[in-house]
Amino acid sequence: MSYSNISKMNFEVSDEQKTFLEQVDQACKSIRDHETKCYLEEKSNDMIVPVFEKIGMLGCPISKKYGGLGFDILTYMLALERIGREGNSLRTFFSAHVSIGQLVLQNWGNEEQKKRYLPNTTSGKSIMAFGLTEPNAGSDPSSLTTKFEESGDNFILNGKKHWVGNGTIAKVMTIYARGPDGRISAFIVDTDSEGFHAEEMKNKMGLLSIKNAEITFENCVVPKKNLLGTKGKGLSIAYSALIDGRLSVAAGAIGVMKDCLDESIAHSQKRVQHGSVLAKKQLIQDHLSSMILNVESSRWLVYRSAMERQKLHDYVENLKEKDQNWQERLNREDKEYSVLRSKADRLAAIAKLHSASAAFDSANRAVQVFGSFAYQKTNRMARHFLDSRAIIIYEGANEVLKLKIASLELGDKYQAY
Ligand SMILES: Cc1cc2nc3c(=O)[nH]c(=O)nc-3n(C[C@H](O)[C@H](O)[C@H](O)COP(=O)(O)OP(=O)(O)OC[C@H]3O[C@@H](n4cnc5c(N)ncnc54)[C@H](O)[C@@H]3O)c2cc1C
Repeated sequence: MSYSNISKMNFEVSDEQKTFLEQVDQACKSIRDHETKCYLEEKSNDMIVPVFEKIGMLGCPISKKYGGLGFDILTYMLALERIGREGNSLRTFFSAHVSIGQLVLQNWGNEEQKKRYLPNTTSGKSIMAFGLTEPNAGSDPSSLTTKFEESGDNFILNGKKHWVGNGTIAKVMTIYARGPDGRISAFIVDTDSEGFHAEEMKNKMGLLSIKNAEITFENCVVPKKNLLGTKGKGLSIAYSALIDGRLSVAAGAIGVMKDCLDESIAHSQKRVQHGSVLAKKQLIQDHLSSMILNVESSRWLVYRSAMERQKLHDYVENLKEKDQNWQERLNREDKEYSVLRSKADRLAAIAKLHSASAAFDSANRAVQVFGSFAYQKTNRMARHFLDSRAIIIYEGANEVLKLKIASLELGDKYQAY
């Protein structure tokens, strides 16, 4: 960002955004008790789809052409921020379904694929998921070993993915596999395909109202028309999905921080120890001020990152309208695209690295302010603490994001991973 356009920044919400965000707020309030119940019983929250479908949240940034609301990235982030107050578990559903689900299809699918799949996902008839990680390929997806080969009109997939969010309920997933020439491609996979098996991963530390699955492909049959994007460019598609995934995690993390802050303030103003309320103790104020810093610094990074992501989106959508061979053009190193993508990638990594750690820090401080009252999962602060541990691992663990951010600054020859 050049200094010349700083004065043009405007984070005022429009009336349209305000109305939508109020609906999201109402939906979150209406689902709060059920979310707690599902979390404590470790069951998928079955109210998410009916409640959020009614207000269009299941396709918030998806084009109206495919049944979405067609909102910009920043509005979608503001909605995720509100949802994040209910917990990372609820927000993770949206990251998997929308950010690394629908958006991957909208961004990289051809018209026939988008028409075939997206309307059912915006209406909630079909839930989406993203399967990249494997038992031996986590931080380094380029080492994945799920294989595909061609057989007549189909691709045949063999291998294993794990930790796939929404993996037990999804009807459609994007899956990344390596071809006989060693290059990785992306596929749209229907979960009722022959040779597809999903199994719930049990005994998780947190995120208990959404499910993760281990997926096995045993000669899984995927029609050739379900190749996503250009053959051999799957890793680039996966990395572009991670820009949206990271942003969604970072936006939700702000909600977690805000909830920790508000609840800690309320508790500390009521709870009396040593003759006065906790809010009067200087060491408690230290926790509160740190939580305030966490919220404010993360908001700046996430909103700015959303604006850069929007520029990338607008550039590609514009290109799609003008050039039928837009994918080939992007693959041939379109300079403007590379610059916009690199900026969006860098800022999303920074926003996610900072916000995930800030959410965990805020949750830790909130548990401390609440003392023993937060040492039960019935208390939302305890759930924020457990769930925020996951967000500094998934969508790029902290260490890997640090290396990525540093090497983007230093240049490729300094890449430390
Ligand atoms: C709750 C949850 C939900 C998830 N959802 C999904 C999903 O929907 N879809 C999906 O595909 N995946 C998903 N994942 C997988 C997630 O993206 C991976 O767990 C993550 O990328 C890290 O990989 P790993 O767990 O194999 O850890 P590893 O890659 O083994 O890393 C272990 C540790 O080593 C560090 N490390 C790795 N490489 C380096 C290096 N070069 N230098 C220094 N340190 C390094 C890491 O930062 C980490 O701290 C999910 C994971 C979790 C826990």
